Amino acid sequence: MLQYEPVIGLEVHVHLNTNSKVFCSCSTQFGLSPNQNTCPVCLGLPGVLPVFNRQVLINAIKMAFATNCAINERSIFARKHYFYPDLPKGFQISQYELPLAEHGEIIIEIDGNSRKIGITRIHIEEDAGKLVHDENRPISYVDLNRASVPLIEIVSEPDIRTPEEAAVYLKKIRTLVRYLSISDGNMEEGSLRCDANISLRPVGQEKFGVKAELKNMNSFRNVQKALEYEIKRQTTVLLEGKQVIQETRLWDVAKNITLSMRGKEEAHDYRYFPEPDIPPVIVTDEFTQEIKKSLPELPDDKFNRFVKDYELPLYDAGVLTSSISIADYYESCLKNYNNPKTVSNWIMVELLRLIPSEELSSDNCPVKPEGLCGLLQMIDDGKISGKMGKEILEKAFNSQKDPRALVEEQGLSQVSDENIIVEAINKILSENPKEVEKYKSGKAKVFGFFVGQVMKETKGKANPGLLNDLLKKELDK
Ligand code: ADP
Ligand code: MG
Ligand code: ZN
Repeated sequence: MLQYEPVIGLEVHVHLNTNSKVFCSCSTQFGLSPNQNTCPVCLGLPGVLPVFNRQVLINAIKMAFATNCAINERSIFARKHYFYPDLPKGFQISQYELPLAEHGEIIIEIDGNSRKIGITRIHIEEDAGKLVHDENRPISYVDLNRASVPLIEIVSEPDIRTPEEAAVYLKKIRTLVRYLSISDGNMEEGSLRCDANISLRPVGQEKFGVKAELKNMNSFRNVQKALEYEIKRQTTVLLEGKQVIQETRLWDVAKNITLSMRGKEEAHDYRYFPEPDIPPVIVTDEFTQEIKKSLPELPDDKFNRFVKDYELPLYDAGVLTSSISIADYYESCLKNYNNPKTVSNWIMVELLRLIPSEELSSDNCPVKPEGLCGLLQMIDDGKISGKMGKEILEKAFNSQKDPRALVEEQGLSQVSDENIIVEAINKILSENPKEVEKYKSGKAKVFGFFVGQVMKETKGKANPGLLNDLLKKELDK
């Protein structure tokens, strides 16, 4: 039977988090009353002129650097025409022939393997407004608060081969924009949106097949599911000897299927032409180098440094560099407690059970790095057991108290005083002469019984290692 290979390319839109819109000084603040953030420019009234927001350019250039793109010294805006009531000018200002940046790449990690996904281009454009439909009457309202909010579009090469890779790639874009602080990257709120193009080709064939473009997926999970569905659908079409038709399809979240929205014949003719009201964008080397200097350490560099300097497994390094704040939390811990793998385990297994990874930061987390290190030190010193440590961490997290203070306050400290333990041992041995006889006649199993009894006697606080040693000594006397 013919085997088909998926070929996937993504077009990703990211809202940039500037204070004002891309061509006017209106606020970009989300959630205000409809049309509060509008002015003659973003309403598309006649006789007004757009002015390009410099901060948008700076943020877009940051992403271009983070994806290793070549930045064009000269790029131009174009008008992309289509009719829709949420687009007051009748065209969207975008970049077409000469985008800001081209020829980049994003590295993704899947199952310990790195894959390079080519970036065709990154360009700047404005968002459209939003229609609000009235459930009770056959009318719609238009809210133009979002009109002209700045976006970058990141277009990938058709280098992605599986739905999982597509989801990982998209998450990597979110990680990047969050590292760069240029967007909140929130998919559910529409700050990160994705159109997925997918075709199949027989394994071994170089030429690409006919693609479908999938829209309307508002979570990583849905992108993956829509692509999985589409692979099945296209495979069936091809195995029946039919052709996949080039079309735009919508993901139906409720039914878990993709539905045809429009075919190639109905595709828009956007009648692009250069935007006459905005001069070409010229960026000098000096300007871009200044921006480059302001970049934080990027995720790939941090990841490689964590693997090399702290000798962490790739998985640990991936989790700990998934955001700047987790990485900072981790490295603050290492300042006080120099065992990288132990700290990594406690953050990944214990702390991330209590707090979502997006929220873990030194400011946010009730257990501060010093507190966690204090806890680990108490375990190393034999003051508390590892098992107790886990319970104390959770208590500290919920009560917002320092773990050391909690141990003090609740008298949880492990008993490492030999005299106290020996006293308890002798009490138990004298209360159980028959069991002692059994032990002396060779029944080694009874040892466990004594450990349990002494633990009970010390309310579970005897240092287990010490208890074992001392018990053996007393029994062998
Ligand atoms: P369009 O003009 O239809 O938007 P583009 O050539 O601009 O198409 O490509 C849009 C996206 O589709 C890119 O991310 C690209 O990688 C991807 N793409 C192009 N051709 C194919 C194909 N045959 N199969 C899958 N993806 C494709
Ligand atoms: Mg397209
Ligand atoms: Zn405006």
